[in-house]
Amino acid sequence: MRRDIFTEEHEMFRAQVRRFVESEIVPKIDGWNRAGMSDRESWRKMGAAGFLAPNAPAEYGGGGVDFIYDAIVIEEMARVRAHGLMMGLHSDICLPYLVSFGSEEQKRRWAPRAIAGEVILGIAMTEPGTGSDLAAVQTTARRDGDSYVINGSKIFISNGQIADLFIVVVKTDPKATPAHRGVSLILVEADAPGFVRGRKLDKLGLRGQDTSELFFEDCRVPVTNLLGREGAGFKMLMDKLQQERLVTAIGALASAQRCLEDTVAYTKQRKAFGQPISSFQNTQFKLAEMMTEVEVSQAFIDRLLAAHVRGEGLVTEVSMAKWWTTELHKRVTSQCLQLWGGYGFMIETPIAGDYADAAVSTIGGGTSEIMKVIIARRLGIG
Ligand SMILES: Cc1cc2nc3c(=O)[nH]c(=O)nc-3n(C[C@H](O)[C@H](O)[C@H](O)COP(=O)(O)OP(=O)(O)OC[C@H]3O[C@@H](n4cnc5c(N)ncnc54)[C@H](O)[C@@H]3O)c2cc1C
Repeated sequence: MRRDIFTEEHEMFRAQVRRFVESEIVPKIDGWNRAGMSDRESWRKMGAAGFLAPNAPAEYGGGGVDFIYDAIVIEEMARVRAHGLMMGLHSDICLPYLVSFGSEEQKRRWAPRAIAGEVILGIAMTEPGTGSDLAAVQTTARRDGDSYVINGSKIFISNGQIADLFIVVVKTDPKATPAHRGVSLILVEADAPGFVRGRKLDKLGLRGQDTSELFFEDCRVPVTNLLGREGAGFKMLMDKLQQERLVTAIGALASAQRCLEDTVAYTKQRKAFGQPISSFQNTQFKLAEMMTEVEVSQAFIDRLLAAHVRGEGLVTEVSMAKWWTTELHKRVTSQCLQLWGGYGFMIETPIAGDYADAAVSTIGGGTSEIMKVIIARRLGIG
């Protein structure tokens, strides 16, 4: 079905992104998957082409266009399985913190270079001891004259090896009650004294991404690196999680769609008992069911996208979309793998990567269970 949220300009932009992705990104993907990370040149090329944060304000070097443009880039990157270059995280999750809550000095200093792909961004929330329960973070930032001194560690941080600037979730008041009132966000540059990158973690999927540990050992940053107010970190996180979850849902659905398309093609050419496996009713029903679920979900995502562009608060609906599309992504990749038979289990077939990559989508950015906790709370029953 034709998706009716796109204007002619959006469609032209998609064609431009697709051409760029085919020529500049696709040839890099195998290398990223082998190296376990993307390369700086590709980030700079994406920035130069205007594909990092098209939605960011023009005064900081962005395109000043609506968020649908960003969604298009996310979809096109997902379509080719370019998961190694975490542009969605950089452009649509991290950068908005800077643009919405940064001081003018912070914005001028980092936003234009981030949009140009020269400064790569990451966000460090999760710690070895806590992920879902963000108010329980143990990393502290103690004020010392004109500096904050940060101590603690983070884990599972995307862009952990390549990023130049991290938004770090810390406790500036570890004794605050309730605990979330002690949470602040501090910008930490990768060359800050006491900032140490840990291991690039060995993962089941998303192998082209540099998910890492980070350590802060008396890490000293100027007080001017505080983002927003002390103690307002939790509120800022809650404010931005809507877009983060929408980004995850958009990517999950686009990935599921690609996996399905490849599986339809495969079942037409693979033969068993003298006929294409697509001729078996089980194959047809499975594919018909999955296509239906993807189409129905796309209609929901497009409604959310349009409402998000209008600036509507959609915490409940986006939480629904996040758990629904990511669970669907997992279901689709698992059922498609079955249709590829033994070849589906081989690393060289795309479906094996899809299956492994999908496993994390119900975990990162808030687990499915946490999404349901939020929905239940909003229903007044949690
Ligand atoms: C590849 C990858 C990339 C990531 N990138 C980043 C990043 O860039 N930055 C970052 O900060 N983090 C990142 N993360 C971390 C991710 O956000 C966390 O893993 C996630 O929030 C879950 O936290 P956890 O792993 O501590 O699980 P836990 O919080 O320990 O949860 C374990 C299980 O308990 C369940 N559970 C927890 N609380 C409840 C509850 N109240 N009710 C019901 N069930 C519950 C969870 O749903 C889950 O099933 C990444 C993770 C991965 C794997």
